[in-house]
Amino acid sequence: MVVGVHRPTQLVIDRQALRENIHAAVSRLADGCALFMVVKANGYGHGAVQVAQAAKDAGATGFCVAILDEALELRAAGFNEPILVLGVSDPADAPLMATQRISATVAAQDWLVEANEYLTLAHAAQPLRVHLGLDTGMGRIGFKTPAALQSAVAYLNDNDTLDFEGIFTHFSTADSADDRYFKQQVTTWKTLTGALDQLPRYVHVSNSATSLWHAECNANMVRFGVAGYGLNPSGTAVKLPYTLHPAMSLTSELVHVKKVAAGESVGYGATYTASQAEWVGTVPIGYADGYERRLQGFHVLVDGQPCEIIGRVCMDQLMVRLPAEYQRGTQVTLVGRDGDETISLQDVADYCGTIHYEIACGFTSRLPRCYRH
Ligand SMILES: *Cc1c(COP(=O)(O)O)cnc(C)c1O
Repeated sequence: MVVGVHRPTQLVIDRQALRENIHAAVSRLADGCALFMVVKANGYGHGAVQVAQAAKDAGATGFCVAILDEALELRAAGFNEPILVLGVSDPADAPLMATQRISATVAAQDWLVEANEYLTLAHAAQPLRVHLGLDTGMGRIGFKTPAALQSAVAYLNDNDTLDFEGIFTHFSTADSADDRYFKQQVTTWKTLTGALDQLPRYVHVSNSATSLWHAECNANMVRFGVAGYGLNPSGTAVKLPYTLHPAMSLTSELVHVKKVAAGESVGYGATYTASQAEWVGTVPIGYADGYERRLQGFHVLVDGQPCEIIGRVCMDQLMVRLPAEYQRGTQVTLVGRDGDETISLQDVADYCGTIHYEIACGFTSRLPRCYRH
């Protein structure tokens, strides 16, 4: 999709907020514990390369991504730090990952065997760095039994095409006030890792939620994601131990203002009919930008005042009811602060019945990302 640079609608990313959030996390870590910033999905919609740079400036010493292409984007941008791909890659890409020094998550031994064949065929000059994923209750990827894990470690040790660099797990309820399932996962993690007589360089279990609320579990690396972007991993369920600064705002302008008479309708399906004469503004953003159609009835800020979205959100435009006549070109805030009012990604997510993660990474590439500070 082309980037809409000739339209007054943009995501504004505050790099200072990113740096502050990440630096606050780094400064709370025990000595010897590294922070890898999670920049998957284009840095949760904030721009992976820009976020990676801000994270590096704030003390992050590595990065996590979801897929190999995201790792390659960082390498192409000149980042030489360790990068871990959190998802399962294609074993055929093992030689590429090895030469690019990109670490692979491995969830089963047959993957190692296959990757080893590709590495041997390619005469890769570097070994493939491997992080073994342990499934302690997330039920997504990873080794589940001590025997399977021991066998994989033995295979890693027997093959110098492979470098056993890390071991990790992922918690499914670290953002919950109820820690019973979390504790079960910790117990399983201890059982599995306790079955090994050697641990690799990176041992990690913490996403943002774990590092915020269960920091005693951190081991020697944390995979810091959503909190770095200034968002509470739990939504509103658990209070933050310190203030985070949301880095993303979404702004636009009124491109058209008109008065509609009582009885006139607005938008597809004519779902909104004015009950009295009112001022209506049109904002150039829609569901093709990731501003969801379900947001009809929600609000934006104009001149510091909440204005209801009336009628259906279109693909590229939406209409709002204004408290008065405003000039074309008046700023509209869809996410962020204007005067005393704020609309958070959490507010948008609540209205849509989802989580802020989904809203942030749902903003499409048509929205330019503009960086401040
Ligand atoms: C996405 C992800 C993270 C980061 O999670 P946040 O909640 O954003 O901190 C950490 N670890 C794994 C395995 C992930 O998939």
